[in-house]
Amino acid sequence: MPVPAAGEILIEISACGVCRTDLHVVDGDLPDPKLPIVPGHEIVGRVAACGAGVLTLAVGARVGVPWLGATCGVCPYCRDDRENLCDRPLFTGYTRDGGFATHTVADARYCFALPEDADVAALAPLMCAGLIGWRSYRMAGAGESLGIYGFGAAAHILAQVAIWQGRRVYAFTRPGDDDAQHFARRLGAVWAGGSEETPPERLDAAIIFAPVGALVPAALRAVKKGGRVVCGGIHMSDIPAFPYRILWEERQIVSVANLTRADAHEFLRVAPQAGVKTEVRRYTLAQANEALADLREGRLQGAAVLIP
Ligand SMILES: [Zn+2]
Ligand SMILES: [Zn+2]
Repeated sequence: MPVPAAGEILIEISACGVCRTDLHVVDGDLPDPKLPIVPGHEIVGRVAACGAGVLTLAVGARVGVPWLGATCGVCPYCRDDRENLCDRPLFTGYTRDGGFATHTVADARYCFALPEDADVAALAPLMCAGLIGWRSYRMAGAGESLGIYGFGAAAHILAQVAIWQGRRVYAFTRPGDDDAQHFARRLGAVWAGGSEETPPERLDAAIIFAPVGALVPAALRAVKKGGRVVCGGIHMSDIPAFPYRILWEERQIVSVANLTRADAHEFLRVAPQAGVKTEVRRYTLAQANEALADLREGRLQGAAVLIP
């Protein structure tokens, strides 16, 4: 049983989402993890104990723990309201222990109060797929036509927000993945097709959630002049060479890293307004490897959530 240090809380975990980044952690795709590591960074639970100096959260409160576990507070990025780029950060389930467990400790300053009336399994995917998805979505700009490549946990959340805001969502899945395309249309996408297909209109922006570098030139070809391609994942296979003319006309490629606490506060307000309903498949903690395998193979729609 971990013991909370000063500034930390002990959390009894109610649910923890399974994110593609957990796959990258267990596969060793990301450099310098804490080892051994408890993965999991979409944690929902209750405060079981408070370390010294924790004044903002009380025992019994429902809290969420995101990917951003801690920042230094003093580097140029932290001082510039870009704590997502902190030079000395800690990440939940990567460089500090996470939520594939019954209990964990977290820095109280990076935890969020969560509503009591929501289902814990439904809340869990908001903590990364939702929060970093939201940052990617904001980065995509305000255009009306939005492409989303890789229709998994983050996409199914942000598509609901986009449609609520009156945007047209185009969903790109693995070629031939009829289940995912049907899922996207059911959530309100105006079009769903394979990632190699050309959408019926040019897009204002595209977000790539799938870790597939070949999607970058595909998305560049799908966006209009001045359009933006946002890479939302932490890891991606190499991007193949492509002709300059598909980038020209002020198209942009940007990546998104991590989240700020401000992103989280904003998204946790927007999600209930937009009526976001996450679709989850529940697994026991002992089925964690099964959940990771299902995610890897694309065998589930929406998000996988472990219930200890
Ligand atoms: Zn910093
Ligand atoms: Zn994640």
